[in-house]
Amino acid sequence: MHYQPKQDLLQNRIILVTGATDGIGAEAALTYARYGAELVLLGRNEDKLKRAAEAVRLAGNGQVHYWKLDLDTTSAGDCQMLAHEIAQRIPRLDGVLHNAGVLGDIVPMIDQAPEVWQQVMRINVDNTFFLTQALLPLLLKSDAGSLVFTTSSVGRQGRSAWGAYAVSKFATEGMMQVLAEEYRSQNVRVNCINPGGTRTKMRANAFPDEDAARLKTPADIMPLYLYLMGDDSRRKTGISFDAQPGRKPGAAE
Ligand code: NDP
Repeated sequence: MHYQPKQDLLQNRIILVTGATDGIGAEAALTYARYGAELVLLGRNEDKLKRAAEAVRLAGNGQVHYWKLDLDTTSAGDCQMLAHEIAQRIPRLDGVLHNAGVLGDIVPMIDQAPEVWQQVMRINVDNTFFLTQALLPLLLKSDAGSLVFTTSSVGRQGRSAWGAYAVSKFATEGMMQVLAEEYRSQNVRVNCINPGGTRTKMRANAFPDEDAARLKTPADIMPLYLYLMGDDSRRKTGISFDAQPGRKPGAAE
């Protein structure tokens, strides 16, 4: 995407990022801080969270807050309690990037292990939804809230062996569409980003034989992440965007 954001695009914006401790989420948090945002970081690993928060603090001028949240073991009630704690520290949320996710097993449907299937659904769908539900009151306090989910090309067109991950991303697209309709006449827009093949640990697990040097890095795909959090996307809702439009799904050739 060719997008040239203004350097103060996210000044006075408060943005929460899940899975902010690695890969695309860590890069998005740093990028938002560089463009002026105050950050709320969520992650499952306390040490990685502290390091990510320090990096974000150094990258920007705004404040950074962080909370530990394991989307595998949390519950709807825990998410409500977390949202309550967050509301004690910040007045509103202007953006939420749901980025955390897991891949599960790349095996045919007949071989999908029930516990792995359920774990993928818990992290990518159920608890992502319960967190969204808990955070919506804070987003509705913004004059232009942006709720962004992370999808995948296999969440739009099923692919053999992508099992629970593909189904979870179809659910993500559905969650985005329902919420976008519900808030269409209010001040919260809801969209998805499909990053496209990006050089991260998850990608290396999915395609171990691929030449990672041929993939875009998380930094390369940040223009869309910025666009959707800033004022230029204010009227966009209910859309599933591609961070790498035109890229053919699958392994890098
Ligand atoms: P990574 O595996 O590099 O990062 C995933 C992040 O999610 C990490 O910060 C990880 O935490 C966090 N996470 C995983 N499980 C949990 C959990 N139980 N609770 C809380 N946080 C958790 O993946 P990517 O950066 O590649 O992926 C980011 C998003 O982009 C995902 O939603 C993925 O599905 C999507 N995507 C990625 C593509 C790619 O090519 N990379 C392509 C299409 C979609 P920790 O740091 O502790 O490991």
